[in-house]
Amino acid sequence: MKNVLKAIAISVVLAGCGAQAPNTEVSEAQPIENNASQASVYDTVNPPISEHMKSPSILVFSKTREWRHEDGIAGANLHMIKLARKLGYGTFSTENGAVFNDENLARFKLVVMNNFTGDGLSPTQEKALQDWVEAGGGLLALHGSGDASHSDWPWYADNVIGPTFIGHPAAPQFQDARIENLAPEHPVMAGIPAEWTANDEWYSFDSLPMADFTLLAGLDESTYSPVNTKYGDVSDLRMGEGAQNHPIIWSRCLGEGRTVFSAIGHRETAYDSVIYQKLLENAANWVAKTTDAEGAGC
Ligand SMILES: [Zn+2]
Repeated sequence: MKNVLKAIAISVVLAGCGAQAPNTEVSEAQPIENNASQASVYDTVNPPISEHMKSPSILVFSKTREWRHEDGIAGANLHMIKLARKLGYGTFSTENGAVFNDENLARFKLVVMNNFTGDGLSPTQEKALQDWVEAGGGLLALHGSGDASHSDWPWYADNVIGPTFIGHPAAPQFQDARIENLAPEHPVMAGIPAEWTANDEWYSFDSLPMADFTLLAGLDESTYSPVNTKYGDVSDLRMGEGAQNHPIIWSRCLGEGRTVFSAIGHRETAYDSVIYQKLLENAANWVAKTTDAEGAGC
């Protein structure tokens, strides 16, 4: 209990998201150890999904057992409803992990991990989603879904997210930064400008994604301060000069499936950007194979 209280206290102090910088102070905010008592936190009752839900649909999942992005979750939920309507899909939003079973997943074309944090899925639920993706499903993971709170689920942490989140600036937390399009030829980046400016909470990672990921967009660190003055000299979050050294959006072809991770989206205002709306529409179409069914981008 003491550690839990410490974690809560530290989370409040951070006033950010999933900020687990590798110093002693913050390391105490690591996820609670996985053990038998975790069973009670997993959902066991299948959420009722209307038989009238459109087919196919988009499943938007926002369960949090670590940092909770109230604003970002609300923004992405609303945006996915609008996007689904535009693309002719239905939507189903839930925080109930029991939604992940073969029968339910067969009704969806796309799964959006909306600021999903912590150990929220049972091994059976995790396996259902993994099998669905590898058999050809499309997965889109947003912002907090790529924080460092998923070590309980190596398949997701390693194959969907890849590098490990190490922190974000906190002083100031939100900054304008220049984003570069790193893959203009990739279907997800079609029609996206060579560069644009956005205001967000900018994530840093411990390394670059492995070669089997495709880097889609990255940050020019010279346009914002990636040095988190709040936590002293261990909180230098620079990844390197040039946007290719600080990627924030990347994709992967995984088995027969496709995934895109975007670190953008701490707040609901991220979804007001026409450029980001276009990018998410491209990403939804690409992972769902509505476009590029023959494998462009893989
Ligand atoms: Zn955040």
